[in-house]
Amino acid sequence: MKLTGHLLIGAEEVAASAGSMKALNPATNSEIEPPFALGGIAEVDRAAKLADDAFDSYHDTSLAERAAFLDRIAAGIDAIAQELAQRTSLETGLPVAQLEGEAAKAATQFRQFAAVVRQGRFRQATIDSAQPERQPRARMDHRMQKIAIGPVAIFGASNFPISYSVAGGDTASALAAGCPVILKAHNAHPGASEMQGRVIRQAVKDSGLHEGVFSLVRGGGNDIGEALVDHPLVKGVTFTGSEVGGMALFRRAQQRPDPIPVFTEMTSVNPTFVLPAALASRGGEIGDGFAERMLVTVGQACLKPAILLAIHGQGYEEMKQAMRARVQAMHARTMLTPGINTAYRRNLERLSNAGAERIAAGGDPQGVWDGQAMLFEVDGARVLESPSLSEEVFGPAALIIRVKDEAQLLAIAKQFGGQLSATMQIDPDDYAMAARLLPILERRTGRIVINAFSHPQEVSYASIHGGPFPATSDSRFTSVGMSAIERFLRPVCYQGFPDKLLPEALKHENPAGIWRLTDEEPSTA
Ligand code: NAP
Repeated sequence: MKLTGHLLIGAEEVAASAGSMKALNPATNSEIEPPFALGGIAEVDRAAKLADDAFDSYHDTSLAERAAFLDRIAAGIDAIAQELAQRTSLETGLPVAQLEGEAAKAATQFRQFAAVVRQGRFRQATIDSAQPERQPRARMDHRMQKIAIGPVAIFGASNFPISYSVAGGDTASALAAGCPVILKAHNAHPGASEMQGRVIRQAVKDSGLHEGVFSLVRGGGNDIGEALVDHPLVKGVTFTGSEVGGMALFRRAQQRPDPIPVFTEMTSVNPTFVLPAALASRGGEIGDGFAERMLVTVGQACLKPAILLAIHGQGYEEMKQAMRARVQAMHARTMLTPGINTAYRRNLERLSNAGAERIAAGGDPQGVWDGQAMLFEVDGARVLESPSLSEEVFGPAALIIRVKDEAQLLAIAKQFGGQLSATMQIDPDDYAMAARLLPILERRTGRIVINAFSHPQEVSYASIHGGPFPATSDSRFTSVGMSAIERFLRPVCYQGFPDKLLPEALKHENPAGIWRLTDEEPSTA
């Protein structure tokens, strides 16, 4: 696919209005052609107006038409998967094979959301039939369904440059809900973003949809992101990235004359609690598995298991030794961006300064933006004194917390902020302690894992990738899995409507077999 570097505003190819940029190959620290256009407030305004123009017709597409559109995007991603993985690898330093896997995952997500749309259950159609004879007051016919919130702005993530970027889960779930999307491309992978954007734009055209259903913008600073969050025609925002960035955008949206929802996914250390019987019986195996998962994608994953807590006792040294061995065997690898690498080095210093001891290091960095794997250990008492020790270090590092006893373990667990996930490694003799730990974890996390690791994450109907602040800014929702669509929906009640005016999901006849709750009974009839 030929990259032009243009912004994609609806069907238009838009040249730079605010200068241009080139992608950086972080492995060689050199720029890659071509230059990419940077836009500003005018481009955001054009995209938002087009998205607003597209809203009614896109929202009115039948479920079958919308599902076919999502399937077209999936096929388009499949068709360029290899080429996309190669370009993305140049821009991110991630291996081609991993990125081909991401492209496959992105296509699968669009197909999964196509199935969600066809089923129609996301509408949560609910019918309370009229009861004209009811005493003391007759009941009118009430019907409820969920509709799309309006055009949304999506900030592409840096760390999953395909499956959570332009053609990622946020875009798939927003389009599935019926929201036109304005995508703010991450500057860490502009070529990969354009390729994905072109696939979506082609699917818009091939599906006969309004051009404003999808636009891709890019900017050279905070202006473009701020303009998206401020725009009166934008009705919701999703963001994956730093807590500082996410909260700046969240606060900005709340200060609008008409505040809008901002779903941010920001930071998580995904603590792993290794309970005593499991530690004694398989400490080495757990340590090895943990260290393997923490190093995946150079530790640049929101679900990286970053902190392991274990009560010092039988199996502890074996566990530690297995972790050290994995870390020491790890070559330094290119990190996604200079900024992420710089923040990683700074955070390693923060851990050391706060009293964590470095107990293993991987191979020395060769490239300028290489991240060296690191393992730290610290005493539980120290963590209770310095809660900053349990903050995220984005990169290939992890911290073992050597805990004195159960009371200290529970106290540290209570000190954690909101998390995307928490893990318990347990054997049957640990069940009583696990039951005491569980309510503490439930209050702090979106997903609790037993005898596996937080990464990878399944993308399915029961998946939750969310949790209390600071993991996200709204713990009621998930950004991964089929329920992610709920972020983009709001309920509307139709009272006393003639059948002709009712929307598809609420008409008397239900030929598409949409799941509905009719007079308190679930049915697809
Ligand atoms: P970021 O700096 O938060 O940027 C994410 C996106 O938001 C970029 O498109 C950025 O635009 C935009 N943005 C950030 N702050 C903004 C603001 N105040 N106003 C307008 N737009 C804003 O995240 P990143 O570049 O992906 O990585 C930086 C750090 O974030 C990492 O070192 C890591 O600590 C964290 N991170 C965490 C996760 C996670 O899942 N836990 C994932 C990725 C990153 P510009 O680039 O144009 O400024």
